[in-house]
Amino acid sequence: MTDTHTHIYMPDSFPDGGVAAVERAISAGVCRMVFPCVDLSSIPDMRTLHSRFPDNTRLAIGLHPTELTPDWREILRQMHDMLPGDFAAIGEVGIDLYHDDSLRAEQCLAFAEQLLWASEFHLPVIIHCRNGLDDTLRIIAEHPNPLPPLIFHSFTGSKEDVERIRTVCDPWFGINGVVTFKNAPALREALPVIGLDHILLETDAPWLAPVPVRGTLNESSRIPHICQCIAETLALPMEQVEEITDRAAAHLFSFSK
Ligand SMILES: [Zn+2]
Repeated sequence: MTDTHTHIYMPDSFPDGGVAAVERAISAGVCRMVFPCVDLSSIPDMRTLHSRFPDNTRLAIGLHPTELTPDWREILRQMHDMLPGDFAAIGEVGIDLYHDDSLRAEQCLAFAEQLLWASEFHLPVIIHCRNGLDDTLRIIAEHPNPLPPLIFHSFTGSKEDVERIRTVCDPWFGINGVVTFKNAPALREALPVIGLDHILLETDAPWLAPVPVRGTLNESSRIPHICQCIAETLALPMEQVEEITDRAAAHLFSFSK
């Protein structure tokens, strides 16, 4: 299984830099992990963990929409200078107006610029979208064709949202522990509309631990709970969900087959 979105490299949550968490994930059958970047400070921590497990892990680079500081243009310049380097994806980037919409215009500019990097370096984009679907879809629609491969990470929307997104692009959808929550029937109803070949597994660790460990510190070893819930919802064998989602993740993030 592949955890396509995990921040287990963050020392605040994993004081050993995530080494034990990666080992627990591999023991649980989660042998591949993608580390999304939040800001410049993520990069040394991600690289340290990646260097311990180079075949099991991939790195993304990008400025998270809630992490824009007054010098965001300079930060983007520094990140662009690091490309392509050791990065397999751009992310996580996008729009987040949930707690604060005061930098909406800047978030839009930063997202549009980082989408262009993906086309320039032929990399997929991990999109973080929270209370920002209108802007996200407008910016994607304004991007010159062809679009890079897109991943709507932490997708928690409805089948109507899937259909609306597909009027603009044809992304993969990162499904995490929210799918196991009692109060997420609309997300489960969206899974057959998304289709197994457009689903990616993710934890978004250290957040969003799935049932039956909801509320604990999340880590990549919890992916089997998410895989099992998707399999039950789609009435498919868990092995098939594992195989199809692994294949998509390997293709997108350049894991060896
Ligand atoms: Zn994230």
